[in-house]
Amino acid sequence: MTKGLFLDRDGVINVDKGYVHRIEDFEFLPGIFAFCRRASVLGYKIFVVTNQSGIARGFYTEHTFLMLTTWMKQRFVDHGVHIEAVFFCPHHPSEGQGQYLQACECRKPQPGMLKQALRDYDLEASECLLIGDSSSDIDAARCVGMPSVKVSRNDIDFTQLQAVLK
Ligand SMILES: [Mg+2]
Repeated sequence: MTKGLFLDRDGVINVDKGYVHRIEDFEFLPGIFAFCRRASVLGYKIFVVTNQSGIARGFYTEHTFLMLTTWMKQRFVDHGVHIEAVFFCPHHPSEGQGQYLQACECRKPQPGMLKQALRDYDLEASECLLIGDSSSDIDAARCVGMPSVKVSRNDIDFTQLQAVLK
């Protein structure tokens, strides 16, 4: 059975500075690459699940987000890590503009992105692990029966965190 490691983005992969959408503001947290390499070696497929209401709010476009995502994935590749897929929610239930104004199923704590990943990649939730810095991350995981670890935003001891990988 394939294992999945689900990472929130802002505050877990990169420093959450609020609506990060430019390469120059994207600061990887120390230890994230080694942690993901270790997870890969242990057989985890790595996924990113991220709320991006900055798109809904009109702070940046989906295209800008996707360009940054391509760059981010390449930095992981540079460090020997393959990111299987990045799932993002561009909506917001009250602040969204136009098509992005939605009470959707994908914005965490809703479990839509996790459900889609489990389905698309034929994963068993109990064999996966989610790492997030918000209660909404943890609540989404709980919805699908996925184990999770809440870490402190922008301040993660990834060496210590390796102990949760199996
Ligand atoms: Mg976060």
